[in-house]
Amino acid sequence: MNAPLASAAAARPRRIDVHVHMVGNGSSGSGCWFRRRGLTRHLIPFMMRELNLPGDALDGDFDNLYRHRLLQMVQASSLDVAVILAQDNVYHEDGTLWKERGSFYVPNSYVLQLAREHAEFLPAVSIHPARPDALEELDRCMAGGAVAFKLLPNCHNVDCSLPRYRAFWRRLAEAKLPFICHTGCESTVDETRPDLAHPHNLIAPLEAGVTVIAAHCATGQPVLGRDWFHVWVEMLKRHPNLYGDLSALSVPGRDRWLIACRRAGVVGRVLYGSDVPVLVQSWPALLRGRISFGQYLQLRRERNPLERNYSLLRLLGFPEEVFTRAGSLLRRPG
Ligand SMILES: [Zn+2]
Repeated sequence: MNAPLASAAAARPRRIDVHVHMVGNGSSGSGCWFRRRGLTRHLIPFMMRELNLPGDALDGDFDNLYRHRLLQMVQASSLDVAVILAQDNVYHEDGTLWKERGSFYVPNSYVLQLAREHAEFLPAVSIHPARPDALEELDRCMAGGAVAFKLLPNCHNVDCSLPRYRAFWRRLAEAKLPFICHTGCESTVDETRPDLAHPHNLIAPLEAGVTVIAAHCATGQPVLGRDWFHVWVEMLKRHPNLYGDLSALSVPGRDRWLIACRRAGVVGRVLYGSDVPVLVQSWPALLRGRISFGQYLQLRRERNPLERNYSLLRLLGFPEEVFTRAGSLLRRPG
């Protein structure tokens, strides 16, 4: 970047991708693991191609291949930083580990370490609230610089309304740690309680005062169902601490709500996110006539999925505030 461009970038609020998955196979001692399960098993070759990684990367030093590629992608994009997500194990409600469940695991210590090493990464930690050490782990993560908290209640088995979790939500609220929570359908990760992807599962943390970011704005897909976009939009009126992220909204089916996210009353409550390494697709926008064929070809030529998703949402008319809003919601450690 030349000097005038660099100073212009420094002068404006940072553009943040609030939903980027860290993944690994533990090859570097990260503690990550990955199980080839469900639909993801069939998507792996496409994901590797999208990431410009070898097809057998998962069997090699995948930890380092992925982290280096992700760093390059952020650096080569119009974004300034990416929130990288940890992924806790699945637990039973009594706090015992549910060993057989879960598609992948990314320890909090790993995302906290990567964020210390690279200014382009911001760490979002993941803690099942039934864990006997949940509050201690939360304190440890905040001391380590956590800026957000992430769970998929439908996969992790978290009924947020359980009274025993109230102290945990209160602690998140006190710490001003926003909760990025999966909502809507799920097609890549092993689920334990699909019903808990309903946005009403967010009510207990919202009422405890937590800033909640409903990942995917509670959208679903026509075939897989579980589309609660309108429920989420209604909830925005009652809960001023509720937001949504635009991650994976380029996926066919979910994409039908993208334009509705630009409406007055909604656009002021959405944050930019991609869901990489979930595939970024621009053909649904072409089929719906939202972008021209020329624009589609331009997007196809873009090999960096982070930049392709950013460019697509720009072409669809999302304003700068959507890309910078997370800056005012993420916790500022220190
Ligand atoms: Zn995701």
